[in-house]
Amino acid sequence: MQFSGRRKKLSPSCQADLYEQALQFYGQPPLENISLSEFESFAVDRMKLLKTVENLGVSFVKLSDTYKNKLEAESKNLKLSPRQDNGLSEHEKRRKDHISHFILRLAYCQTEDLRRWFIQQEIDLFRYRFGELNSKQKLEFLHKNNLQYDTISVEEKQALSKEIVNSSYAVSGVKVEDQDVYKVPFQDALDLVRTRKVYLKAGYAYIPHQDIVTIVLNDFRTRLSKALALTARSLPAVHSDERLQPLLNHLSHAYVGQDYSIQKNVGKISLEQIDSLSGKSFPLCMRQLHQSLRENHHLRHGGRMQYGLFLKGIGLSLEQALQFWRSEFIRGKVDADKFDKAYAYGIRHMFGKEGKRADYTPYSCMKVILSNPPSQGDHHGCPFRHSDPELLKQKLQFYKVSPSGISQVLELVKGMHYQLACQKYFELTHNVEDANFSLNHPNQYFIESQRALGGGKESKREADAPQRSQESSAARGSTAAQEAAAADASQNLAEMTEDLDSFFNDS
Ligand code: SF4
Repeated sequence: MQFSGRRKKLSPSCQADLYEQALQFYGQPPLENISLSEFESFAVDRMKLLKTVENLGVSFVKLSDTYKNKLEAESKNLKLSPRQDNGLSEHEKRRKDHISHFILRLAYCQTEDLRRWFIQQEIDLFRYRFGELNSKQKLEFLHKNNLQYDTISVEEKQALSKEIVNSSYAVSGVKVEDQDVYKVPFQDALDLVRTRKVYLKAGYAYIPHQDIVTIVLNDFRTRLSKALALTARSLPAVHSDERLQPLLNHLSHAYVGQDYSIQKNVGKISLEQIDSLSGKSFPLCMRQLHQSLRENHHLRHGGRMQYGLFLKGIGLSLEQALQFWRSEFIRGKVDADKFDKAYAYGIRHMFGKEGKRADYTPYSCMKVILSNPPSQGDHHGCPFRHSDPELLKQKLQFYKVSPSGISQVLELVKGMHYQLACQKYFELTHNVEDANFSLNHPNQYFIESQRALGGGKESKREADAPQRSQESSAARGSTAAQEAAAADASQNLAEMTEDLDSFFNDS
């Protein structure tokens, strides 16, 4: 696979230049050939890192010691730290960082929601990495990226020290002489000027080093959002590549964890247990679907897909599923005959017993949150993403979440951290201080809940096995056969979902 762009091609030496520094603005795309399996594993690792950035940003004060230590550990673990020594050479780590950033650009330029999420996490990652550079590296980085800001001399610092201290909140309590102060044309520091945070003299802003990052981040944000808009324009060309399109779609809805299509607990759950499990161990999305099904004796196709696959994932057998849906539907406007003709086939299809006989995968949170938003009369989707905040508040009150808990959840929703809001709901309803997992999937929520309630030890042990195998498969080498298998798997996944989507009528 070759990355190419409309920009002038870089010579190999320019390409090597890119990796001279630990940090870059990702201005030049990579131009080398890489295998599809490397493409996939790089992308998955960066996804994991950005998810960690998001989780840490909500759980800890950004740039606090704990935040930095945890982020450093995860970067090291994923071999995406451009500076630490963790097995790969510096060049290889920087190359991985560079390529993986560009792959996710392709996957995350597709919608406004995706772009916003990606920019936010990349900026937080960049802020952390910039803060880890020493003064010399920071200056080199600025100069290399045409930000010709210089630090002022010791004499100038001494002469202006009083003014700088009086004007800059960032230096209060710190000796000006002990830190770098940058001299920047004032038009490049409008955010700081507007909020009166810097000393201005003769058209220059004097910026303490704690604040220079604000300017650099603004620049990075502008560059990245322009680049994503440009990348979005090239999407039709990318989508015409049948190897890439399913892979990128899969990535943008990515769930990088266990494969819940592997049914390990078939038949371990009885139909009588579903009502009580829905109250105790279902995430809000599934609890809401279950409640609507019980009340209306019907769910539209989006709800049947989302809930049906979830139930299959927690261990309902085909026979149980047929019995479950049938008994509920015939209580409403659908008679037994119509159910058998119009709906039973769909359920068998979901279990891979009809049509292509594909085994369908339960939806991940990203898929629920980002695709097929519910419209009037639908009950599918993610309540943290798709419900009106007032309605969500009422739901949480109805489920007896404490007022302070509701405020915490709503605060996370306001910041668009939907999965973290769901995780908070888990903590509140299970009475635990720290859920101790990173939520990515409704079926993961169920397993963790069962574990927390003491009923899922066995399913957890079983659940770990496919996760390990999935992770090791992501890390495997790049033979031609593996590339073909990776491409086929992604292709099949997209085809399967499309096939199933088109099968269900909106009735
Ligand atoms: S975050 Fe995931 S598990 Fe939670 S309600 Fe939304 S889709 Fe369901």
